[in-house]
Amino acid sequence: MKGFEYLQNELDEMKSEGVFRELIPLETEQGSKVVIKGKEVIQLSSNNYLGLTDHPRMKQAALNAVEKYGVGTGSVRTIAGTLSMHEEFERKLAEFKHTEASLVFQSGFTTNQGVLSSILGKEDVVISDELNHASIIDGIRLTKAARKIYKHVDVEDLERALKESAEYRVRLVVTDGVFSMDGNIAPLPEIVELCEKYDAILMVDDAHSSGVLGRNGRGSIDHFDLNGRVHIQVGTLSKAIGVLGGYVASTQALRDYLVHKGRPFLFSTSHPPAVTEACSAAIDVLLEEPELIDKLWDNAKFFKDGLQKLGFDTGKSETPITPVIVGDATLCHELSDKLFEYGVFAQGIGFPTVAKGQARVRTIVTAQHTKEELQEALDAFEKAGKELNIIK
Ligand SMILES: *Cc1c(COP(=O)(O)O)cnc(C)c1O
Repeated sequence: MKGFEYLQNELDEMKSEGVFRELIPLETEQGSKVVIKGKEVIQLSSNNYLGLTDHPRMKQAALNAVEKYGVGTGSVRTIAGTLSMHEEFERKLAEFKHTEASLVFQSGFTTNQGVLSSILGKEDVVISDELNHASIIDGIRLTKAARKIYKHVDVEDLERALKESAEYRVRLVVTDGVFSMDGNIAPLPEIVELCEKYDAILMVDDAHSSGVLGRNGRGSIDHFDLNGRVHIQVGTLSKAIGVLGGYVASTQALRDYLVHKGRPFLFSTSHPPAVTEACSAAIDVLLEEPELIDKLWDNAKFFKDGLQKLGFDTGKSETPITPVIVGDATLCHELSDKLFEYGVFAQGIGFPTVAKGQARVRTIVTAQHTKEELQEALDAFEKAGKELNIIK
């Protein structure tokens, strides 16, 4: 069909630069080992931190929900698509997060878009960490608010931005709790103090911290004992929680406001019963099986130590996300390909997801990995890293 030549040209250019990537389908369920292209490999690229994507209690909850309530809701939340289970889950989640209320969106991405686009106007300013997630950036693009960017996790630069923005009605500071490409944690105690000093609203995106940091996986705010001092917590139900969705945990006022103004909430259909009931069961799992989180951190330490001992550059990771930074994008993809050959699936990530010259193979271990699997993965990293002269 004629008409897309301009797109094809750009795709051809991407191919010649070696940055065109095919999607890589898994032929099995998500897990510590998966089958890709007919080959069983150790999975180090998922966000399935606790292995909840196939947890028996959650699968059963989803099956029961399908039996009793069917597969879809047939409406958006604000018209006829709110089931009692949606509200029950939101109350449970708010209690878990120690907040007054919560509201669930279709995904973490739409949560950031919905919150940022609705609560800020042209008399306001949003102050954002330069490495915040794409969904925060897109949410900011949808507001008429002024924008200021501060240097990554740099609290002095954040203070500068706050000082320069005294004239606005609302100053909203937004940061990831854990940064997805480096695995470092935002300096929330300092950020909270600055926000209190300058009377700014703070929004923290806990996508990579929910189920990972804090007591029973309550997230980065609980990790730093900052409950009650962060205005807006956003998170995903699609990573450690293992299902799908996003949420805001905050005040009743914010929930009420978003029910009226959060555009993805208003104009996109609510979660199917199976999704909501599986997410609800996930909270029970976090409360009753905290050993999963202990295992996750134990595995993360073992694997990170192993990579560092081999001489890899793992950046400033403090969480189960461990980047293996190689710099050059082509070399990075070669490392990823070699790892696959040696039985490990770990995707290379380059520009524009990370800065040019900062290409990396990003690894995430899960609670499902055995020590043997992690040792096997380390052996593969050693062999591939030496062959490509990344380590000695
Ligand atoms: C993954 C991620 C999201 C998006 O969550 P989804 O539920 O997958 O849409 C939002 N913010 C951050 C920081 C993320 O890492």
